[in-house]
Amino acid sequence: MPCFLRSHQAETGNSSIKPTLSENKYKRGRRDNIPVPDRLCPCGSGEVNDVPHYLLSCPLHDQPRGKFLGGIISSLADRSPGAQLSMLVVGTDRFVAQQVAKFALAAMKIRVNL
Ligand SMILES: [Zn+2]
Repeated sequence: MPCFLRSHQAETGNSSIKPTLSENKYKRGRRDNIPVPDRLCPCGSGEVNDVPHYLLSCPLHDQPRGKFLGGIISSLADRSPGAQLSMLVVGTDRFVAQQVAKFALAAMKIRVNL
């Protein structure tokens, strides 16, 4: 089961949440030339299962995204997807970090049950 989001704190002692790719085929994909089809998201969208997809657009996560990140994402609607992603994963806002952590936990539970 891919787990893209881990506690940055566990790795660095920093309290912010930062997406990190587990040492799995998703992280190794580009580096090790794993074919794109082998890195596609199990949602069937045809998109690569990377952090932007996992966090911002994977339909498997629509419910927790709306519940935990909907208001935050709405408040960032005038920003580019890259800026939104940056705010969510490397921002220093404690509330945002907590909501991203709740989202990641819910998303992980969804994927475990696939
Ligand atoms: Zn997906």
